[in-house]
Amino acid sequence: MNNENTTYNPVSIEKQMLKLWVEKKIFEKLIKKNKGKKKFSFLDGPITANNPMGVHHAWGRTLKDVMQRFKAMQGFEQRYQNGFDEQGLHVEVGVEKALGFNSKQDIEKFGIDKFTKACKESVAKFAKKQTEQSIRLGQWMKWGEDYHTSSDQNIEAIWYFLKKCHENGWLYKGKNILPWCPRCGTSSSKHEMSDEGYELLTHTALFLKLPLKGKKNEFILVFTTTPWTVPADTALAFNPDITYVKVKQSDECYWLAEQALKELSGPYEVIEKKQGREFEGVEYEMPYASLPAQKEVKKHAVVLSELALAEEGTGVIHIAPGCGPEDFELGKEKKLVAISPLKRDGTFMEGYDWLVGKYAKDANPEIIEDLKKRGFVYKTEPYQHRYPICWRCKEELVFRFDYEWFISCDKIRPKMKQAAEKVKWHPEHVGKLMQDWLTNMEDWNISRKRYWGLPLTFYECECGHLEVIGSRKELRQKAVDPKKVDKLPELHRPWIDEIKIKCPKCKKTVERIKEVGDCWLDAGIVPFSTLKYFEDKKYWRAWFPAELVIEMRAQVRLWFYSMLFMAVTLEGVAPYKSVLGYEEVRDEKGEPMHKSRGNVIWFDEAAEKMGADIMRWMYTRQDPRFNLNFGYTPAKEVYKVLNILFNTINYVKTYCEANSFKPKKITKFDAANKWIISRMESLKQSVTSNLENLEYNTATREIENFLLYDFSRWYIHIIRSDVKPGEESSSKQIILNVLYSVSLDLLKLLAPFIPFVTDYLYQDYFQTFEKKESIHLTEWPAANKKLIDKKLEESMTITSKIVESCQAARQAAKIKLRWPIKQLIIVSDNTKAQGAVKELNNILLKMCNTKSVKVVKQKPEGEFAEVDFDFGKVLVDKKIEASMMEEALIRELIRETQSLRKKSGLQVKEKITLTLNSDDQTNKLLSKYIKLLAKEVGAKKILVGKLQGKHEGILEFNNKKISIKFDRA
Ligand SMILES: [Zn+2]
Ligand SMILES: [Zn+2]
Repeated sequence: MNNENTTYNPVSIEKQMLKLWVEKKIFEKLIKKNKGKKKFSFLDGPITANNPMGVHHAWGRTLKDVMQRFKAMQGFEQRYQNGFDEQGLHVEVGVEKALGFNSKQDIEKFGIDKFTKACKESVAKFAKKQTEQSIRLGQWMKWGEDYHTSSDQNIEAIWYFLKKCHENGWLYKGKNILPWCPRCGTSSSKHEMSDEGYELLTHTALFLKLPLKGKKNEFILVFTTTPWTVPADTALAFNPDITYVKVKQSDECYWLAEQALKELSGPYEVIEKKQGREFEGVEYEMPYASLPAQKEVKKHAVVLSELALAEEGTGVIHIAPGCGPEDFELGKEKKLVAISPLKRDGTFMEGYDWLVGKYAKDANPEIIEDLKKRGFVYKTEPYQHRYPICWRCKEELVFRFDYEWFISCDKIRPKMKQAAEKVKWHPEHVGKLMQDWLTNMEDWNISRKRYWGLPLTFYECECGHLEVIGSRKELRQKAVDPKKVDKLPELHRPWIDEIKIKCPKCKKTVERIKEVGDCWLDAGIVPFSTLKYFEDKKYWRAWFPAELVIEMRAQVRLWFYSMLFMAVTLEGVAPYKSVLGYEEVRDEKGEPMHKSRGNVIWFDEAAEKMGADIMRWMYTRQDPRFNLNFGYTPAKEVYKVLNILFNTINYVKTYCEANSFKPKKITKFDAANKWIISRMESLKQSVTSNLENLEYNTATREIENFLLYDFSRWYIHIIRSDVKPGEESSSKQIILNVLYSVSLDLLKLLAPFIPFVTDYLYQDYFQTFEKKESIHLTEWPAANKKLIDKKLEESMTITSKIVESCQAARQAAKIKLRWPIKQLIIVSDNTKAQGAVKELNNILLKMCNTKSVKVVKQKPEGEFAEVDFDFGKVLVDKKIEASMMEEALIRELIRETQSLRKKSGLQVKEKITLTLNSDDQTNKLLSKYIKLLAKEVGAKKILVGKLQGKHEGILEFNNKKISIKFDRA
């Protein structure tokens, strides 16, 4: 048993295998092996190259790799193309931070050309790091043949799409109220304001008291959390359907919702009640009505709206239609003036008097102070709420008016919904989320006022004509100076800004708009740009649509959406047949991982401490519907499972080697072997279909059950005593063959999930007989349905339950399993149980260590330890017969000798000379069992009544004492 206890060290095995795969060019051989066969088109969602890879990326990468390895073993040709997402705000913000920049002015001063270069360098650095990390994870891709979203090829493909949109009449420049990052100086779009686009922040809630026009000492209490919007206020909103009350506090009266009375400080008296609807048109005094910016507002009066809630604040809200999307919508409906006070950098524009040039956030306390001084504040208090933040730089977003470019989506919406319905979404609710998103999607804001990104080739002429360029060739044709196009180093700012075109309508020279594109355009075009849509339609047809894409569930409104949008626009179909969306990685307590909390586990650290196989098994056994609680404690649990695999396979190797085993084709099996083969064939069937259905976690659970219970715990226990080296028998040959083939199949089923340890174990032994030089070059094991015997599997389940109950009964009767019993009685009238006992009688005799098994319908007379099982009771006689005690003694002696052998470091194959001595009566008894003892303890010779040898021990049992001495024979 030289290897049975060798410790499983994942990290050292993985490093060894990584080296070996390179040396033996295993991946290259796999590609060659499947070349020209049936295709499986997997499309990789590009990873943003702005950070080292995180353990959350590793989840998706593992799911991708498992599927590609599984399909490779099934013999499919694949593309193995990894993608890097390289443009956009996330990259820019990282570079700005590295360069110590804080605003767009800093970038412009530095020079856009140098900034673009810095962005490219940063991307290259992180792409390299991510590549190394992915390789460490065991991900097989054609590294170095990646696609890059910043490539000219990708950019031109998007130009083509945008021109299509323009030809369809969908492209427009619109003034809209936009979520805006004042630091980045650009808008965000709805899909970017996803879950991570909000943070729980504490702001100051302001309770304004605004005087009713024409009344003395009568005020409306108004609630707001954004004081900077007060100077842009053009109305107040009351809810028509709630009750408002007038209260008296000292010599002032206030109006507020009845339900909001708790907000009042100090005693009050309710003196009047009114419905909200009665307030329509009531005018109030606006503190900043005299600002030049308020010039257009004829009067400040109450409007009615459900936006005013009784549960929040005072039930009265102030409306600034230029500062928020809901206010804007309400303003349109009520024909209110919308004034938007902020410039692109988040400071107040002209028309706001002393506020001009102040940053909105900084202006908040000053505005409160000003209002207090002028008697407009009832109270202020800290207020915690979820507030939108910039998804990249975390600055608080504001809302402001600006021009951006949009793709109108009303025409395409029904087509996208239809196409999405044909996709197989996994888990199913992801498809529902997509439908909801499509139902509610607003026009796509595709422009960003930034630098490092897709240059939008829109040329707006003074004459009113808009020219949209769809390719580099077209740009050259329409350029004022075509040679400049030839000389472009790349299709990026600032170089592309130099190209001017001639307006086809009026012949005037026109410049490109300065905006770059939303980065989701970059990733969305991938099913076209990377699949040679423009260069090689035959190739594109062979690989489009993708069979499968796998990304985080949050990609529903990002990548899954932008790809769908573009594919439906260009080809009228979804770009993928199946989509798997998984949830988030949390820490092991279920908390989000955050640098500030100190609970982040970095990929490199995890790979070095737990090992990639452990991580992969953790990822694949997780139900993707739920967040994964990742950490070292769950890793320990996974380690235990893989350690059992490691030890089980080593056990098989040890006994196969000790018996000089060679694989042979076996066709006849007894019940136990037939059963484990049937279980293995069933397992193949279920793992295959579960993987096909993207049920990774069900597949891994089935494998775990097989490994932990059926194979290592049950089957190996049944056959354990039959594979001892020494005597040859045909039954032993059968068992060894079964052990070998089941182990090999198990490793193959596990190979896509845990590619390192499976290949290590394969190469360590099985490769001696198998032709393939890596397990990853073997075929996926297909199930042989003829070998599946469900009835036998059911009988075995019953049998194992009987054995379990028998153990419990023995324990109750204080009879160790090593000691034989005369009879096991099963009380049951169930025919399945009766059948199982009959069919698997030998296994019961062995596993229960009983001389006989009897099934009866009624409990017999006698003193029994009894235990219930699913189909009845199991009885064990409490008394032990003398002859049974004799055998028990021999069993104890065998166990003791074996344990001494192990302690002395003897190998399984090594024979010993054993000497034993006790009282005369016991010596006589021992002599009767010499043959059995010799076989069980691997003794060549046994001497009784005499002691010799350098290894020694003593057995004390049942008032008897036996001295043991032995040596290597
Ligand atoms: Zn920002
Ligand atoms: Zn023109």
